[in-house]
Amino acid sequence: MSVISFSSSSPSSVASQSLLSTQTYRSTAIVANEPLDKQGQFNYEAARRYFPAQIIVDMRALTQNMKRLVAETKKYNPQAQVLGVVKADGYGHGLIASALAALAGGATWLGTAKVSEALLLRQAGIGPDRAHILGWMSSALDAPYEELILNNIDLGIGSFDAIHAACQAAQQCHTKARLHIAVDTGFGRNGFTPAEFDQALSLLQDGAQRSLLDIVGLYSHLAVADAPQNQEFVRWTDQQIESFNQFVDRMTAVGLKPQIRHLANTAATFSRPDIHFELVRPGNGFYGYEADPAMGTPADFGLVPAMSLQAQLGTIKTLPAHHAISYGRTYITDQETSIAIVPLGYADGIQRLASGSNELGSLHCDHQGGPVRVMTAQGPRLCTVSGRVCMDQFLIDLHGLASDLQVKEGDTVQLFAPGRGAKYCEPTADDWAESADTINYVIYTCLRNRIPRLYVHAKEVLSENDLQLLDQRSILS
Ligand SMILES: *Cc1c(COP(=O)(O)O)cnc(C)c1O
Repeated sequence: MSVISFSSSSPSSVASQSLLSTQTYRSTAIVANEPLDKQGQFNYEAARRYFPAQIIVDMRALTQNMKRLVAETKKYNPQAQVLGVVKADGYGHGLIASALAALAGGATWLGTAKVSEALLLRQAGIGPDRAHILGWMSSALDAPYEELILNNIDLGIGSFDAIHAACQAAQQCHTKARLHIAVDTGFGRNGFTPAEFDQALSLLQDGAQRSLLDIVGLYSHLAVADAPQNQEFVRWTDQQIESFNQFVDRMTAVGLKPQIRHLANTAATFSRPDIHFELVRPGNGFYGYEADPAMGTPADFGLVPAMSLQAQLGTIKTLPAHHAISYGRTYITDQETSIAIVPLGYADGIQRLASGSNELGSLHCDHQGGPVRVMTAQGPRLCTVSGRVCMDQFLIDLHGLASDLQVKEGDTVQLFAPGRGAKYCEPTADDWAESADTINYVIYTCLRNRIPRLYVHAKEVLSENDLQLLDQRSILS
């Protein structure tokens, strides 16, 4: 899978050597604090040449977050295993790299929602000897069940059609389908309701007796586990757990006792050890974020955000006072000031709701745009999206003159990274989520693949073999 859509010549070629020595950049990688080796430097500069922004993923952070989640899980039940959720292209961090980091951190299962991503993991070379893989969403009529079964992918199943399809495919390919039965304990999404469960059980019994189905697991999903301070929500979760246990009893009663019960997401992995069962399914925590900032900061949970997003400034110019910026004239300069272009827009996945407006603008309301950390002669400065986010770019008011601040075109600025938050001039994905009135998950999963995704500390945490599974041009260190 290629994450970078440019072609690069061999770094050992004479041409690229001379390119390296003659071309210098004003600012280097902000995130890769350690010096890059020659190959890493080449990859970084090549990425910058073809796209003026980079997603930098810290493989050490991912691996350590998984170790943290595994330790938290084992603390209560040494037998319990961890499934690293790598759906949605590893929450935007890259499917394969995230999967490999999860395994390096001690996860023994991987999970995706779309079964296409489960297949991609196997195709990348993550075999059944390395990990169980669970795919939990499919359209019963069209999913490639035979291919999934032959690739040793466990199937999350929650409809009668899906049971039929799994039986049929198992018969065709003479291999049992490994199923995890999804049950609706109150989420109202996937899974059998208590009312339809008897019918599901008889179909499952039938499939098991005909040696077509291996009923491996039972699972459900929690609706409000991310608010452990809210007593009403805790009661809802308690009800979901009670319902889940009733499903377990009903399966056991008909001789289909699930070997692997799983219910906990990131929030419940931390706050509800009573429901770790045989397997937990954390996603967001693995990427370094808590499910809801109300629960605390990532640091409170011993997590480190793995992703940083940076960009190189485009045109910088000085505008007089009372000059409108961007579509809709929602932001008007209050004094003479310099404006810089950040070359990322909503087509890159920057939330348009993170646009910034001020009282002088046409909306007559102050809305703090998404934060950007800019290095100036006076130290780091927090700027915010000024005016509306456009398709490929947005603008920031530097609140001063670029010449005084010594901010220049080509300078690297940071949209988010691990840090203490915007008020310390260390903007995070949580700050962007707040500005866009959304959740941190949206901030990183929506970033588009045209932004090069580059990996640091990959060589430190991955084996030589695993390193080979990544796009070599994406490895910085
Ligand atoms: C996304 C998802 C998870 C992970 O949730 P987080 O809040 O990211 O930990 C777990 N289970 C299912 C079924 C999911 O869809």
